[in-house]
Amino acid sequence: SIEITGVSKRFGDFVALEDVSVSIPTGQLTALLGPSGGGKSTLLRIIAGLEYADTGTVGIEGLDATALPARKRGVGFVFQHYAAFKHLSVRRNVAFGLEIRKRPKDEVRRRVDELLALVHLEQFADRLPSQLSGGQRQRMALARALAVEPKVLLLDEPFGALDAKVRKELREWLRRLHDEVHVTTVFVTHDQEEALEVADEIVVINEGRVEQIGTPDQLYDEPANDFVMRFLGPVT
Ligand code: ATP
Ligand code: MG
Repeated sequence: SIEITGVSKRFGDFVALEDVSVSIPTGQLTALLGPSGGGKSTLLRIIAGLEYADTGTVGIEGLDATALPARKRGVGFVFQHYAAFKHLSVRRNVAFGLEIRKRPKDEVRRRVDELLALVHLEQFADRLPSQLSGGQRQRMALARALAVEPKVLLLDEPFGALDAKVRKELREWLRRLHDEVHVTTVFVTHDQEEALEVADEIVVINEGRVEQIGTPDQLYDEPANDFVMRFLGPVT
């Protein structure tokens, strides 16, 4: 599980997170949902080790990760605007993390074939990232993040830059992928529909505080306060 306890974070005088505590069970697909500027990315970056909390602790699968750098946390991440190696093929991009870890060549090939099949990019293996669509590129990013078998997968609006139709396809695909792989996943979105449709559990974050944690049904049927009710209210 991921155990976030009493995490606060300021940028100068601005309080980005205030006393946030969240427990995310192993194997679950959890959404961090809330309006822009609420602190979702900051919390995700603190889990990733790309940012450090001022106070509080972060535990990842029993490990006290509070002071650990990102590379020692066993996390994989994907952001909205994914930076791929432009001069490397899709296959080499996915293989990169395994190659720098000096895994045997045949093992790398086998693993990359599996991953490309998982994200349905087998026939694009030899293309360059610039020759993929936005949705295909984000799927490549996911394959790359999964390559090193992270304990935790962190996604910050991975489909945010794509058009509505592709977003919808990818969110259904992410749900199916998660049902296959079962890696503990934290998914940032400001889109209520996306969170309600994809997540096992939703953490609603607003102005640096957790407003409510619950399953989509719980949030919808029993919103903890007016904010949650309005935020999840009838999608127009
Ligand atoms: P969005 O949905 O727009 O991505 P968010 O919920 O991810 O929003 P954060 O990126 O976590 O929000 O930002 C929370 C607040 O902290 C914002 O007001 C932002 O301006 C501020 N903030 C984030 N990073 C920094 C930084 N490095 N320096 C100063 N302020 C920051
Ligand atoms: Mg953000």
